[in-house]
Amino acid sequence: MTIPRAITIDGPAGSGKSTLGASLATALGFVYFDTGVMYRALTLAVIEGGIDPTDAAAVTVCAERISIGIHPPTVADGRQYTITIDGRDVTWAIRDQRVEGAVSSAAGHPPVRVILRAQQREIGMRGEVVMVGRDIGSIVLPEAPLKIYLDVSIAERAHRRVVELTARGESVDHDALAASIKNRDERDAHVMQPAPDAVHINGDTQSPADTLSYVLSLVPMGMRLHA
Ligand code: C5P
Repeated sequence: MTIPRAITIDGPAGSGKSTLGASLATALGFVYFDTGVMYRALTLAVIEGGIDPTDAAAVTVCAERISIGIHPPTVADGRQYTITIDGRDVTWAIRDQRVEGAVSSAAGHPPVRVILRAQQREIGMRGEVVMVGRDIGSIVLPEAPLKIYLDVSIAERAHRRVVELTARGESVDHDALAASIKNRDERDAHVMQPAPDAVHINGDTQSPADTLSYVLSLVPMGMRLHA
């Protein structure tokens, strides 16, 4: 069996897994692949197509028909990658509130997950990749030699978001934010599947920089490109 040079990071929304994944990929010279963008792109196509996100059959047909592309950034506007649907740039559109509200429904249909997981697995098996999501270490790429499950309490995630938004000059209510994070966790509970052999990290007790150093210390020498 081929063992890809791959690291998986699963965890809830706002746990810092994207930041960790992107910096880990940079440090190792690997590709960073955030699988959430695929579910978001599908959800955008569903909304634009006037499809009900709870309609499993219709969402599945949509997933079969569209081609989701993940490319290196094509515009220098702060993006980490460029996402396309059938060649159209949807990088920022997939962050819409409309997508945010419907993605857990659209992503939850088992046949939809079969389609997107196969595409994710194909990318993962090419290796030299850090893959981020909810079920990557358990289902998409169980062969990965290093699997991380990053969890952070709702209170801490809300606190971090308040700090981020306040720095941007936006006024926010901590309790309302905490309630919306809790709500998203509940909606995503059915897709969250940590791998049994994942290293669990509690992000409450260490900074993102410390988490990165710790995960780097776990990367086997044989996985590094320039060992
Ligand atoms: O990670 P992010 O919050 O961008 O993911 C958006 C949504 O996509 C999640 O809320 C979840 O419903 C879905 N998702 C999933 N499986 C993954 C990654 C994301 O179902 N591997």
